[in-house]
Amino acid sequence: MKLTILGFWGGYPTKNSGTSSYLLETENYHLLIDVGSASLIALENHLDPLELDAVILSHYHYDHIADLGVLQFTRQLKRMKNNLERASMLPIYGHQGDDENFKRLTMDLVSEGIAYQEQQKITIGPFEIQFMKTLHPVECYAMKIVEMKTGKTLVYTADSGYLPELIPFSKDADILLADTNFFNGMENHRVHMTASEVGRIAKVAEVKKVILTHLPQVGDLELLKAQAVNEAPKTEIIVAEKDLTIEI
Ligand code: ZN
Repeated sequence: MKLTILGFWGGYPTKNSGTSSYLLETENYHLLIDVGSASLIALENHLDPLELDAVILSHYHYDHIADLGVLQFTRQLKRMKNNLERASMLPIYGHQGDDENFKRLTMDLVSEGIAYQEQQKITIGPFEIQFMKTLHPVECYAMKIVEMKTGKTLVYTADSGYLPELIPFSKDADILLADTNFFNGMENHRVHMTASEVGRIAKVAEVKKVILTHLPQVGDLELLKAQAVNEAPKTEIIVAEKDLTIEI
């Protein structure tokens, strides 16, 4: 499978790049994970938004859902070439802990909100997905996404303060896509993780590769990476960049 970073900043977009959004693809299936600010325009460089097969949302903070409405409008208004049919109904998976936001996932003839639950494994196209509730001011879920055909695994922490449970959840993952919003010195925060906390998870869980994301706009990202590497010197660690594509 292939992962493409569409947006990676925490909180707000800057410097021509947007907030959390990731495209996960196999040959025939295109799953969008979170739909942050500026993600729709970034998506267009890789895939016609009409070709998306499903969307999954970790939580309803704006920096993860800002472009959801315009994605729905795109699907409603932009017709297939030489064909006046609408795009097919787009399934949008989200939790139902916030009823008002969950309802917005459904738009007549355009998209359908589908609820997931922490205790339930679900199948979305070629992927099997498990959830873990994170430490965050609003209900939010980390995801372990397994490509069923190959067994390759992506763990996305979504937004979270450090939780020891993230270690077994991430065990042996091929990729850990991790909220690293803070430099060291902010450990045990209730909203996001520091570089060394992410490094600790990566090391103990023996993940193959870490992508630091949900990045801070202020500060040296090379230092952020160095702090993670210091904690997990044997793990491959990279910093998210717009349009970065990784074969998993
Ligand atoms: Zn958040």
